[in-house]
Amino acid sequence: MTTTAIDYEAVIGLEVHAQITTRSKNFCSCSADYANAAPNTHVCPVCLGMPGTLPVLNRAAIEATVMTALALNCEIPLHSKFDRKNYPYPDLMKGYQITQYDEPLSLNGWTEIDDGNGGTLRAGITRVHLEEDTARLLHRVDSVTGEPYSLVDVNRAGVPLMEIVGEPDLRTPEQARQYLLKLRQILRYLGVSHANMEEGNFRCDANVSVRPRGSTTFGNKVEVKNMNSFRAVFHALEYELDRQSTMMAAGERIPMETRGWVEGENRTVSQRSKEEANDYRYFPEPDLPPVVLTPDWIEGVRAKLPELPDAKRARFVQRYGLSPHEADLLTDSRARADYFEAALADADPTDDAARRSLARAVANWMLGELARLQNAHGDEIEAVKVRPQHIRELVAVIEGGAISGTQAKDVFQKMYDTGEAPGAIVEAAGLSQISGTDELAAIVAQILAAHPQPVADYRAGKQEAIKFLVGQVMRATKGRANPESAGALLRDTLGG
Ligand code: ADP
Ligand code: MG
Ligand code: ZN
Repeated sequence: MTTTAIDYEAVIGLEVHAQITTRSKNFCSCSADYANAAPNTHVCPVCLGMPGTLPVLNRAAIEATVMTALALNCEIPLHSKFDRKNYPYPDLMKGYQITQYDEPLSLNGWTEIDDGNGGTLRAGITRVHLEEDTARLLHRVDSVTGEPYSLVDVNRAGVPLMEIVGEPDLRTPEQARQYLLKLRQILRYLGVSHANMEEGNFRCDANVSVRPRGSTTFGNKVEVKNMNSFRAVFHALEYELDRQSTMMAAGERIPMETRGWVEGENRTVSQRSKEEANDYRYFPEPDLPPVVLTPDWIEGVRAKLPELPDAKRARFVQRYGLSPHEADLLTDSRARADYFEAALADADPTDDAARRSLARAVANWMLGELARLQNAHGDEIEAVKVRPQHIRELVAVIEGGAISGTQAKDVFQKMYDTGEAPGAIVEAAGLSQISGTDELAAIVAQILAAHPQPVADYRAGKQEAIKFLVGQVMRATKGRANPESAGALLRDTLGG
């Protein structure tokens, strides 16, 4: 690159589709659990798109969408409606999708994200609306003739889907990743979606354009599809930033188009041009009445909102004296945050110092040994056998001086494997520290006799030599001695 080369920046806006975890589908009473059923068993005339059938709106899906919109700081109009988006495609049973066009359930929100640069960024949310998922197409090749053919599984057709359209406020692939992480976290906190990209119930179309840094206008955007992981979104956007900047630097025009991410090849390929606007012939869905909400109902939904990640993180920092990074990790999921607070459950609420010191110890165990073992076993916090109160008990056992820090790790490993309480493990293994001075004094005498050189060093003023001797005591007792008591006893015996 020469020094005169223009520096380009990306402009990114994401469209996210999240399946809502209702029991039944959006417009019929079929089970929405499409993934765990034989193909075409969760179907009825409505979701098969039979002529003459009528959709009936799922109240739970409306509530989940409004709840999400409120968590994303959106306005909720009292009046909204559904529209038909017409396009012929084999996965669309009716030949149109019921969605929301000009009067969605919500508008004008925002969410705060990590800007990837040590700060935060308020990313605008254009709207959150409710629509329906399509059937699944399975593409096969005939083993005899070699002819390709496709199968249709209608189980997924009509599953409620919310679309979260983001403003073009993101400027880097990392910000796009952070935005998606935030949306996923909020959806999971609310319990409205599994929000799992790999499972396909949380999907992202990424719109990206480039412009010379400093420019205030937007360039032509490209829409990238087919990304099945956070990593794929990140790499697809990096690829597009590079591709479009190179074209722009060469004075080429960037055509508006839809491109697909090719996972194995780490590149995007053109799928179709978007130079001409698609004509979806939107019109109001005549089979569904408009949605009319009351302020009371909306406030009722707002009242059901759980404490959201940002608020929880701030509270953890303030109340427990955790660092922002620790609070971030501990509020990563609602289950992890609940686990942490359950471990502190009977801390004296009036004693700030005691609460903070217990919180510190519990956080250290959770982010240290527990996280390490969880990673090694691939266990989510929900699956962990260690009970939160057992962590609190372990902290008490250590503070009481019954076991050493090294022993505590072994005890924790057993707690993790068996789910047993630390007290029971310590007792069964006879791990309790040597507390009787007589027993310890005998061992100290042996060690001093066996190591005349360090003893002489210590007496000659080399304080460091005591460490070696303490180490020898710990070794002789297999870690059952308290290192502080051992040190004190050694010094006494040597006549400090
Ligand atoms: P479409 O109808 O093609 O889906 P929209 O204007 O509704 O286009 O925008 C959809 C998404 O594209 C939004 O998430 C928005 O933030 C993003 N977007 C719009 N214009 C641009 C642009 N010039 N560059 C990048 N993203 C953009
Ligand atoms: Mg689009
Ligand atoms: Zn049905």
